[in-house]
Amino acid sequence: MSISAATRVVALLGHPVGHSASPAVQNAAFAAAGVDAIYVAFDVSSGSEAVAAVSALGLLGANVTVPHKQVAFDVVQHRTDVAAASGAVNTLFWSEGRLTGDNTDVEGLSHVFAADVGLAAGDGVVLFGAGGAARAAAVALGRSAAVVDVVARRPDAAEAVRELARSSGAKVGDVPDPRVVINATPLGLRGEALPDRFMTLAPGQVALDLVYGPRPTPFVAAARERGAAGFDGRGMLLGQAAAAFERWTSRPAPRAVMAAAAESALSARG
Ligand code: NDP
Repeated sequence: MSISAATRVVALLGHPVGHSASPAVQNAAFAAAGVDAIYVAFDVSSGSEAVAAVSALGLLGANVTVPHKQVAFDVVQHRTDVAAASGAVNTLFWSEGRLTGDNTDVEGLSHVFAADVGLAAGDGVVLFGAGGAARAAAVALGRSAAVVDVVARRPDAAEAVRELARSSGAKVGDVPDPRVVINATPLGLRGEALPDRFMTLAPGQVALDLVYGPRPTPFVAAARERGAAGFDGRGMLLGQAAAAFERWTSRPAPRAVMAAAAESALSARG
């Protein structure tokens, strides 16, 4: 790839960013699609200044990650409907000349629900966790018209995510025998198991972990061992990346190339 004065820049804005697979995934996608752009990670302490820099420097776009997704939502002047519903922005792109905030985590999860999980309207889902990833899942579950229960250690946070799922189109209530359990906590990042009730899924049930790593997480491994289906967070990672690529370039994302780049980046982590 040759960089010239015409090359456009897409930024990853977050703290920390050193572990991110996104530069490998997006640069592989730009190269495969013949887009004259590069994707660079910036470890930034001020989310609002970083979002302002996207305009000031005329970047092609940006991803926003932890801990700046809420600040990006607050400071960006235009938001997609999905970003407005979720209260967080993970992608900045130009639409009709305006810098616009989107939340492609929701679209990434919707893709996983359709392509991997086969989620149907009325399916029962237990969502474990009540942070940013759980909020994106709540909006995506609402759009799938699932029946959702939220389990989290802080009752007020769980109730807020239930309300978000409800306002996004889900039915909210007890789900004693879920078809799908989603882990939206960091448990598993360092090999931790989930609470016992989530480690005993049976055939017909689906473990969807938003955590991912070089090996299957304990939640996914336990589900598969017991005959249930298990998917880790790669699908969400790739789904949000593909949607962001399409916002920036208006071209279909080269998903197979992006998946291969993510695999290489993850295996290099060991
Ligand atoms: P947040 O910090 O916003 O939320 C984490 C949630 O997990 C909170 O509800 C928190 O509870 C809860 N939690 C943390 N530790 C425990 C524990 N030991 N027991 C029970 N609950 C716990 O993080 P995010 O929502 O942004 O991300 C969560 C995970 O999802 C990340 O670790 C990441 O691995 C994954 N993720 C994956 C993505 C992908 O593309 N695949 C994208 C984004 C996230 P409390 O509020 O009480 O601390």
